[in-house]
Amino acid sequence: MSFVFGPDRKPPAGWRVSHDGELVEDRSVAGYVARGREVKGLCQLRDCRRRCHLDLERLAERGLGALSIGELKPLYRCHRLDGCGLDFSEQYGAELTLGMLAGRDHVGVRVACGGCRKSTVVRPEQVIERLKLEGRGGSDTPVATLADLARQPCPKCQARRWTVAVLWLDPAQTPSWLRDRGNRPAG
Ligand SMILES: [Zn+2]
Ligand SMILES: [Zn+2]
Repeated sequence: MSFVFGPDRKPPAGWRVSHDGELVEDRSVAGYVARGREVKGLCQLRDCRRRCHLDLERLAERGLGALSIGELKPLYRCHRLDGCGLDFSEQYGAELTLGMLAGRDHVGVRVACGGCRKSTVVRPEQVIERLKLEGRGGSDTPVATLADLARQPCPKCQARRWTVAVLWLDPAQTPSWLRDRGNRPAG
């Protein structure tokens, strides 16, 4: 399956559409640069303590933007005989918010129960409205926090664990949840 998007269908810079149509963080060098995400390393060995701050922009300029961060990290290890204790930490970077998803008729937020896997797909606008009504968020709410915000138990199995995914659908195939409701975004 391939996804070809026009200018208004393109995922936000720094995110990409996975094989199964979910919007996911782009874990490449270019994706990190687009989100402004920084990666730092510190070797935990007592007599090393080497620090590094990955210059992702320079790597992207040199044509290495497609390299994944996971492939990149081991290249920064030191070559001591007794190994390297390099640990990485990441900070900063743009977060995916509900506002970035709103107003697009090919985007759905899928909320799935961690117990029985029962899932529903709702529009980003519906999530924003609900959070506003409850006084717990709105357009600025990061998608990554939604699973924790959904505190009510699953009506089917009573579990309280939820997973949230953003579906970035092929516009050529009108999704059933949109067809059934027939509700295009207002404005
Ligand atoms: Zn080291
Ligand atoms: Zn359940």
